[in-house]
Amino acid sequence: MVQLATSDTMPPSADEMKACDQDCQDAAVFAYRWEWGATGFCCAAHGALLQQTSTTLKRSIALHPIAPPVAAPLLRDERIQLTARSLVLEAEVEEARSQGLSVYRKNGDLQVQLSAAVVKERELKAQLTDAGLKLQAVERQANNLEAENGRLLVELERLRELDTFVSAQSDREANERGLGGGESPDGR
Ligand SMILES: [Zn+2]
Repeated sequence: MVQLATSDTMPPSADEMKACDQDCQDAAVFAYRWEWGATGFCCAAHGALLQQTSTTLKRSIALHPIAPPVAAPLLRDERIQLTARSLVLEAEVEEARSQGLSVYRKNGDLQVQLSAAVVKERELKAQLTDAGLKLQAVERQANNLEAENGRLLVELERLRELDTFVSAQSDREANERGLGGGESPDGR
């Protein structure tokens, strides 16, 4: 059934919950207005029913969604509970922040240690490179000495052959002098 427009059927204030006025206990979600001016509030199901009725009657009806009522003001106990919960959350946030700070500091310490290790590693690599260069220099020197030694051996061998040749020559000349009475055949 449709109510006539009264002050009770004006759009609700925000903090007021309207009930469906169609012999129904549900909360209203529409304000409606028939073309002849009657207004009221209804739930979704009755809104659909009113639209069917409108079609059947061939009389128009306008349905306007109404905003749900804002939350009722908090009761004192709820405020106390929320305040306690807020304090707990603040404590948890502070604890997390403290743990985060601790982790942050540990991370800083580790980075300092890492930097020191990196520097040490570079130093060792530099020493290793230096030792490698020295080793190469020693090896080059050893190769040079070996080559020089080879040259000297060749030279020594040549000198030995020369010595042998000279000795043989001297012996031959001595023999020739001994056999030829001191004069060489070519008058020298
Ligand atoms: Zn209803």
